[in-house]
Amino acid sequence: MSGFTSYASGKLEQLVEVSRQLGARPDLVLHGGGNTSVKTQVKDITGRRIEVCFVKGSGHDLETITAAGFAPLRLERLRELLPPLEVPVDALRNELRCALLDASAPDPSVETLVHALLPAAYVLHSHSDALLTLGSLPDGEDRIREAFESHFAIVDYAMPGPALVANCSAEWQRRAGDELWGIIVLGHGLFTAADTAEEAWKWHVSAVATAESLIDQAAQAENSIETPSIDRVAIAKLRAEICEAAGKPMILRSWRDAEHVAFASDETLATAVQGPLTPDHAIWTKPLPMVGRDVSAYGEWYTEYFESNAKRTNRRLTQLDPAPRIVLDPELGMVSVGRNRREATVSGELFTHTMRAVATAVARGGYHPASLEHNFDLEYWEYQQEKLHRADKHGKLAGQIALVTGAASGIGRGCAEALLNAGASVIHPRMARPGSECHRFRTGFGGTRRSSGALRRPRHSCSRSGHLPDRGAPR
Ligand SMILES: [Zn+2]
Repeated sequence: MSGFTSYASGKLEQLVEVSRQLGARPDLVLHGGGNTSVKTQVKDITGRRIEVCFVKGSGHDLETITAAGFAPLRLERLRELLPPLEVPVDALRNELRCALLDASAPDPSVETLVHALLPAAYVLHSHSDALLTLGSLPDGEDRIREAFESHFAIVDYAMPGPALVANCSAEWQRRAGDELWGIIVLGHGLFTAADTAEEAWKWHVSAVATAESLIDQAAQAENSIETPSIDRVAIAKLRAEICEAAGKPMILRSWRDAEHVAFASDETLATAVQGPLTPDHAIWTKPLPMVGRDVSAYGEWYTEYFESNAKRTNRRLTQLDPAPRIVLDPELGMVSVGRNRREATVSGELFTHTMRAVATAVARGGYHPASLEHNFDLEYWEYQQEKLHRADKHGKLAGQIALVTGAASGIGRGCAEALLNAGASVIHPRMARPGSECHRFRTGFGGTRRSSGALRRPRHSCSRSGHLPDRGAPR
């Protein structure tokens, strides 16, 4: 990669900078979402100058990306792959990899062809909360068209990849001659394109600000619901059932601040979630949250959702586990689920954005996200599944919680490290690693010699794997 990055250093540096700016805004992109690109020239080994498009590598996070996170592709070849050619969806990855100038580069983003379609040098793509929220209102599409059509091509939702490129290409051609800032894909997000990184960013921020101003920003009445104390036995029972349904140990994270509890306690809001803010979130959150605690009913619904959609698409697919990733319960607040603390946090944070959009949209007449069919198509697309696999190579003890006392030093510390390295989440009194799978006891649970009620009642809370109960990850 170094040869190509050095030839392209100036523009690539600016791309890295603007990408990090975009990645630092959680209202624009979350956890590997969004992508960016720049078109420039590089010299190959023969000295020939080649037009190249550096596109974010799939699985890289914009907030922390470096030049090595971008894949250099031959622009000429990418343009040959644009409509009217129809690249079969299963052939897309191979075609993109074959267009690379560097065999060791990461897989280019699945939205690469939209970047190639837009002629300007810099392209920035986000899943802006404001725009998605606006689009999810009952008259959202009309509002978006009215406010943005003068500067953007407005494109109907389609699955990222060849179907989305086809929609974008048709609309882009229809608008040929208009001075456009980019493309808005309904139910998905925003692409801005300009010849400088600065301008692409300015247009991006401006469009988002417009969307924000169109949403009624009236502060939602600060909910005075008191945060309930956590029922450790209830959450441990829930965890046991979820592990059973998933067929593997899972970690639960509890979100019990006023905002999440208020949402989870409001049946109208909880049942209004008819899909995530964008289908891109479905691999982490599942298409719908579980409202209440009936894990087996949720599993039956998920299996039916899988079977009917697999039949519709006529593809041989393997059903993913039917356990929920988000639980909304009036007493427990919101609970997010993942194979480790990180995954449980990702699903919880993504759903928090959906939750806010739903609350805003319901107050204005209803929440209308992309259909469950669209969610299914993305959830069961191998490209998306690989994001999950890449995100975490789970260790043997993933989903398990270990309690280690005396972990500040010596043998205890060594045990804690070994458990962490094997993928377990570790609770211990002294050694806390911010952001890692290692949790410190908090007041009331540890740091003292007294064990909590939950720890005194492990029989109620062991999952079938017999591991210790989760106490709800610390916030
Ligand atoms: Zn996208």
